[in-house]
Order: sequence, then structure tokens, then C-alpha cells
Amino acid sequence: MKIANKKVTAERLVKDALAKAKHFEDYNIFTYLNEEGALKKAREIDARIAKGEEVGRLAGVPYALKDNFLSPEGETTAAAHILEGFTSPITATAVKKLEDEGAIMIGRVNMDAFAHGSSTENSYFGPTLNSHDKKRVSGGSSGGSAVAVALDIVEFATGTDTGGSIRQPASFNGVYGLKPTYGCISRYGVVAMASSTDCIGFFTKTPEDMDLLMSIASGKDTKDLTTLDDYYNNSKATKAQKVGIIKDFDNDSVDKEIRRALKHKCELLKSKGYEIVELEMPALKYALAAYYIIVPAEVTSNLSRYDGVRYGFRSDDSVNLDELYSHTRDEGFMPENKRRIMIGNFVLSSGFYDAYFLKAAKARTLIVEEYAKAFSKCNFILTPVAPNPAFKLGEKVNDPVAMYLEDVMSVPLNLAGVPGLTIPAGKTDAGLPIGLQLVGPRRSDKSLIEFSKELAE
Ligand code: GLN
Repeated sequence: MKIANKKVTAERLVKDALAKAKHFEDYNIFTYLNEEGALKKAREIDARIAKGEEVGRLAGVPYALKDNFLSPEGETTAAAHILEGFTSPITATAVKKLEDEGAIMIGRVNMDAFAHGSSTENSYFGPTLNSHDKKRVSGGSSGGSAVAVALDIVEFATGTDTGGSIRQPASFNGVYGLKPTYGCISRYGVVAMASSTDCIGFFTKTPEDMDLLMSIASGKDTKDLTTLDDYYNNSKATKAQKVGIIKDFDNDSVDKEIRRALKHKCELLKSKGYEIVELEMPALKYALAAYYIIVPAEVTSNLSRYDGVRYGFRSDDSVNLDELYSHTRDEGFMPENKRRIMIGNFVLSSGFYDAYFLKAAKARTLIVEEYAKAFSKCNFILTPVAPNPAFKLGEKVNDPVAMYLEDVMSVPLNLAGVPGLTIPAGKTDAGLPIGLQLVGPRRSDKSLIEFSKELAE
């Protein structure tokens, strides 16, 4: 490690990262800069090294924290007005694990409010701009995280992925982004969106860094009973022979340059002796519809706790308790949050539960089975992350269905709980990053990261 070798001090690294964060202020990446706290931690680490004490595997490494991770440093707002003024008394397990290894949070980063969105335009603080073209979106919901890493402000950033929020912004900004197997990393202390699909993950510049972060963050947590045993650190990367591509995704609704990038990577794999297998996965066509029923149903339940009494913002324009709730929720949520609350209540209501929620749950089972079938024919699947590269700011924000269609290739993984890794795969002729998604069976995260090195050029 550079710091432990005394080549550079933690203080220097943190100062540089803070200076870069300020330099790129116009991208609207940070919701909070942790100047004092970060410098204090850096000096402590430098002092320990000077005394010859042991330091952690991430000692002095600056990172950016998506604003839906709870920690007492700065307000945790999830980029929503309704959480403004909320400082957490607790620290998310993932944050604690990173910081126990010496990582230093230099700031909290922007996102779609409550992680609802695919462009970061649903943030109460305004959109984060794309790292390669300021007229375009950063992707979402973890747009701030992706841009902070792409612009080299920090070494890594945290993210959450409920339906693509790590993988899609990673692809729009040309960095690695991993959504691990569901249950790999504790969700304790992370603002819940949809509890059955939420995953914690990271943005990095290399697969090696991703592996290091995964080995630190994964594992059982008694505070999150959906966490799995620590399979990540107890597994070895297995060798792959066959890589699947999904026929159903190779059509005109997918950008030509993305399809070209996918073909190019398939050629690369063939030249290295891998076999490319064509898969038919017809059940995936139900994924988007099922996702936009199951997720709002869980969202509506998770957002019910924001009532103006317990956390953050409270509307002062109320004469009784009912008004306090309704005014706070009306003023505090973004339009997309409200849309999901309404859809969620609708699909769960007694007259419609069977027609919508139950059907979606059945479609989810079909999707799980479809992946199991696919992985009996190949080791990994390589697909686009989204149908297009970064789109223009304002292009889809007033058309919810167009925005939801962004997620057509990312949400099936969340419904099935399987891991997906976005890998950089070149650029379009206009210079926009292209990302592809490497998908593996549950618990194959380590092999997936290892295999992604085969695709690097
Ligand atoms: N874009 C998806 C949605 O809006 C995914 C969001 C996420 O992964 N947090 O639901």
C-alpha cells in the first residue's frame, strides 16, 4: 500500500480528493463534503503509521458514500426533502466495515430521491451531470457515486442496486459497478427501497479493487437476517468455459453501438477459446412489468415511516395530526416517490392483489427458473446493461414509462437475486462510455469479478 510505505500521507490523499471534489463542483456530485471529519481521520492514520502501528487494508483511501447510507457524519437525506435535517445515530454495517479498514469518507453523493429513478434527475438537489458529457444524465439512481469515481475524485464509491442503480450509472460513466448476490452485503443502516431486491455494492476503476471491497464488506450480519454466510471469502474463483448471450436482447430496441460492443467482446472471448452459447430466455420479457409491481408494493411499505414525526423535515403548515402527515408527505416526497406509493397501494389493494401482485410474484418465480436453466448451459451471461448510452438531461424525466424502460435489462437480475457486474466496453463514436453486464449464478460473485479481467483490453 502506498500509504503504509510512506510514499504518500493519508492527509495528502484526502486533501487532493477534497480539492478535486471542489474543482468538479458544477457536476453536482456531492450533497455533503466531509472536510473536517475526513482530515481528522487522515491525520489519525498518519500518526498510527508514524508510530509503526498496524493499519487496515483501506488505510487513508478516500471514498464517496451514496446518500442513502446511514452514518453520523453529515445528514443522511437519500436526496429527498423529507429527510433533510436528519442526522443518523447509527452507522450502516457496510460503512463500519469499510471504515474499520481505514477508508475515509470525503463526502456523501447525489442520487434519485429514495433511489427511485434511472438518471439522478429525481434528486431534490437537482441532477448530477454525466462525467463524459455535461448535457447528459449520469444515470441512476447512484449517479453521484459513478461520476465521483469516473472523474477520479475518489478511489471507490458505495451504491445500492434495487433494479440497476449501480450497473446502469457505471455503464454511463465507464467504470466497474457490481450488484452482488442478494444477501451478500448487509443492508442494515441503508435507507430501504424494496427489501426483497435491494443490494449494496460498489463502483471501482478496476476488478482488483472490487474484489478487495467485496472481501471486506460481505458476510453475515445479525442485524440483517437476509444476509448469507460469508461465501465470498470462502469461495475460490472457478474457471469458465461457456458464456451465454441472450437472443431476445439482440434487436433494434438496443442501440447499434452497444450491440457492436457486445459482438466485439464475444469475438474477444472466442479468440481466447471460450464458447459463446445463444440463450433463449422468454420469461425475461415479464421482468420489467413484474418489477414495477413488486417494487412499488415494497416501496409503499418502506416509505410509510416518513411521517414528519420521526425523521427530518416536518411541514409547519398543519392544524392537526392528519394534516401534519399529509402535508409533510406531500411537500417532502418527489413526484416519482408519490407515483410509486400510489402504484404500490393500488397493486396491494384487496380488489387488485390477485390480478397484479400475485401474478407478478408468479412471474418472478418463472424468472428465477429461467436463470437456473440458463446457467445449466453456460457459466456466465454477457448482456447490455441498458438499451442505450447516457441520454440527454430532460429527455425522459417527464415520461415515467420511457424512464422505466431504461431498466429492462437490469431488473431481471434483482428479481432473481443473481449478481451482475458492469464492465467498461469502449465508447460510442460520440465518445460516450459503453458498459456491458456480466451475470452469474447466485454466489458466483468472486468468479464473476475474476472473469471480468478476461474482457479487459
Ligand atoms: N431505475 C430503477 C428504479 O427506478 C432502479 C432503481 C434502483 O436500483 N435503486 O426502480
